[in-house]
Amino acid sequence: MIEDKVIIVTGASSGIGEATARLLARQGANIVLGARRDDKLKQIAVEIETNGGRAIYRQLDVTSQADNDAIVKLAKDTFGRIDAIFLNAGLMPNSPLSAMRTHEWHQMVDVNIKGVLNGVAAVLPAFTEQKSGHVIANSSVAGLKAYPGGAVYGGTKWFVKDFMEVLRMEAAQEGTNIRATTIYPAAINTELLGTISHAGMADAMQKTYDKYGIAPERIANVVAFAIDQPEDTTINEFTVGPANQPW
Ligand code: NDP
Repeated sequence: MIEDKVIIVTGASSGIGEATARLLARQGANIVLGARRDDKLKQIAVEIETNGGRAIYRQLDVTSQADNDAIVKLAKDTFGRIDAIFLNAGLMPNSPLSAMRTHEWHQMVDVNIKGVLNGVAAVLPAFTEQKSGHVIANSSVAGLKAYPGGAVYGGTKWFVKDFMEVLRMEAAQEGTNIRATTIYPAAINTELLGTISHAGMADAMQKTYDKYGIAPERIANVVAFAIDQPEDTTINEFTVGPANQPW
């Protein structure tokens, strides 16, 4: 059931997060939008409300534990509880290692890994206590398959795969009923390529996305499907991409 669930979406200001927030709101969820660009969040929240949905927003930098804690508190204060979090915020400044973009390596670790840790730390006490909750995380096919230029990005997404699997296993062992779902998208047309500063890499990836990319609503559909399952059922993983992309 999605109706009336309280769901936080990180990275909700564009792309997959925005599409997912809009879809879940249409299906009756109470949505809490988080990202750094709060002007975009405000616009999305207003549109959701105009269309009869329920959405609030808060500026969120996922690298800050305090920000993650604050958005969970906002969800509880406004809607009375928290049922699910979609850990979606991420960036992909791919480059060859020899280009030595070490600042970007650390940025990816901070957002794609530590952002996930901070989000889980923010919801886990409530989920454990209420013996229910759903953590959905956006990994990538880059978390399943290595490719040149994606050493650090892929590493951060492999981390998500491992972390989410252990979260699922421990929740099962501990009887907390916390559901854990990991999504592995392939080429999805969003603002993600805008995070690539290496010209050659940006060019090559743009060509791939021009050839294969599909809409972020495709990922929103599977997030909604996972949340919609009965509480005793976990959909553990989804790999989703363009039908014509060989990955
Ligand atoms: P977008 O660039 O459109 O969205 C990324 C979102 O992350 C934005 O809302 C951005 O908002 C947010 N974000 C970035 N840094 C931070 C931060 N420090 N704190 C909070 N929010 C942040 O790209 P996508 O929709 O494609 O990306 C969403 C996720 O999907 C990412 O984790 C990405 O790795 C993953 N993915 C995407 C694929 C694709 O082909 N598009 C394929 C596989 C995985 P703001 O700038 O306002 O903070």
